[in-house]
Amino acid sequence: MTNPCPTCVRGCCHRHTVGVSGTDVQAIALGLDLAPALFLQAIAEPGVRGFLLSREGPAYQLALAKRPADTFPAPCLFLLELPDGTGRCGIYTLRPLVCQTYPAYTRNGLVGRRDDVLCPTEAWHDDTLTDPVWYERLAHQALAFDLYELVVARWNYHLLQNPPTPPRELADYYTYLTHIYAQLKLICAQVADWNAFCAAWDACLDRGAQPLRAACPELQPWQPTLDAIRSAVATSLPTTLAPQLLAELAQWETGILPLPI
Ligand code: SF4
Ligand code: SF4
Repeated sequence: MTNPCPTCVRGCCHRHTVGVSGTDVQAIALGLDLAPALFLQAIAEPGVRGFLLSREGPAYQLALAKRPADTFPAPCLFLLELPDGTGRCGIYTLRPLVCQTYPAYTRNGLVGRRDDVLCPTEAWHDDTLTDPVWYERLAHQALAFDLYELVVARWNYHLLQNPPTPPRELADYYTYLTHIYAQLKLICAQVADWNAFCAAWDACLDRGAQPLRAACPELQPWQPTLDAIRSAVATSLPTTLAPQLLAELAQWETGILPLPI
């Protein structure tokens, strides 16, 4: 097995914008004792994980900030650039899940190398990606982004439906994330076999089911965990919604209604 990254000059940490989940934000914020505003950027872009700051939009996606630089594209804030043109991740053990899983994807429990990546053509074609850690990271990533989607939906729905709704600041959203992910971390810490939980989650996704919206037999052993997650997110903002709107949100969270944005 060889790791092509130490000698690579293809610049993935310059040329990609690294989208993050709330799980990544929490890991970096706690690991570096750093406020989210100091390492994130909010990019106006629609999508299921786009959060609103006002009812009129736009929706924003969270990504790692870029470092101001003479070069374009600018490097990731955390990239250590070396004189020979290579680089090293300055937060390697805390790097976001999309960085941990690049350039791999998973389907039906198997891991493959994506075609749409910057890696040299010959890279990653040995047995490196068969190491179980790659699947574990990919399954964790799928779960993390599903959780984040629910967290974003709760925020958006609250903002859209809870009058009066003055525009929010980015700092308000970060405070919300910090609060809800502190609770989710405690809930997830109770899961005895984290990799099995993520693998069961991934198996649901592989057959087109969304564990937070539909009952998945694979996740039956973790039903208390799912209930705790839903409950934590559902009570994460002041419940001043009218009763019928609360019912509507519950329907959205179980997949009966389309996304509010
Ligand atoms: S967090 Fe690390 S691996 Fe990810 S883009 Fe930044 S420097 Fe690269
Ligand atoms: S482009 Fe691929 S091989 Fe090069 S540093 Fe990035 S992940 Fe590693």
